[in-house]
Amino acid sequence: MSPEEAGAGGVSLRNVTVSYERKPAVRNVSVDIPAGESVAIVGPNGAGKSTLIKAIVGLVPLDAGRILVHGRPVKEVRLRVAYVPQRGTVDWDFPVLVRDVALMGRYGRVGWIRRPKRADREIAAAALDRMGMTKYADRQIGALSGGQQQRVFLARALAQEADVLLLDEPFVGVDAATEEAIFELLESTRAEGKTVVVVNHDLAEVRKQFRRVLLLNNRVVAYGSPEEVLDPDLIRRTYGGRLTMLDVVDQMARR
Ligand code: ADP
Repeated sequence: MSPEEAGAGGVSLRNVTVSYERKPAVRNVSVDIPAGESVAIVGPNGAGKSTLIKAIVGLVPLDAGRILVHGRPVKEVRLRVAYVPQRGTVDWDFPVLVRDVALMGRYGRVGWIRRPKRADREIAAAALDRMGMTKYADRQIGALSGGQQQRVFLARALAQEADVLLLDEPFVGVDAATEEAIFELLESTRAEGKTVVVVNHDLAEVRKQFRRVLLLNNRVVAYGSPEEVLDPDLIRRTYGGRLTMLDVVDQMARR
């Protein structure tokens, strides 16, 4: 799809509420994320950031509201949405080779029963190569460093050839080179007209690397450009008493 066609798409959330055991984790969120944009979701622990990402990918049911991906309900376009969960939620002892993790990005297309074709293997191998992980293809995923594991998960997402990329705290526990590789991937993905949504805590990086910021604390506190949104007053409203102004000033100064 050309960026122009994709421009009609992106992700649209309208009055989205998600609850666990009747307690809302995300309340009444309405946000439009056009294709070709990169959005950082910022907020304190428990703000509902992961829940919002899971709602977009269709992993948690909505209490109310609706989410459209390129104008269609996500269940109709699941393959177009790639999701990388927080590293901490993944069982890294699961015995699987790096090349097979990347190939999992193709499963939605090849099905669980039909064997992947040569083209699928080539796409998965190219994704590993793009993330600099070719030489680890025959290793167990559990035997890699945090940064390497994150690269493999990104390769899996790339292999899916989705046009919405959702990453939940991809920078936690990764080395500086991987952090840079992730930012490069995000920027080239966005420049291809795809939609990039990332949960990220680092305000200095958010300011530098993302075109839009969503401040979330169960509800939307603010949504707009980093210049508009990374305002000490709005940050304070987002974090309540949990982040001191010194932290904010410090993070913003680190550029
Ligand atoms: P964040 O990603 O911003 O830290 P989460 O989306 O993980 O926030 O969580 C939002 C709220 O929902 C928190 O209060 C959390 O305890 C609760 N929550 C998250 N997942 C579940 C779950 N599977 N069951 C019950 N409560 C949950």
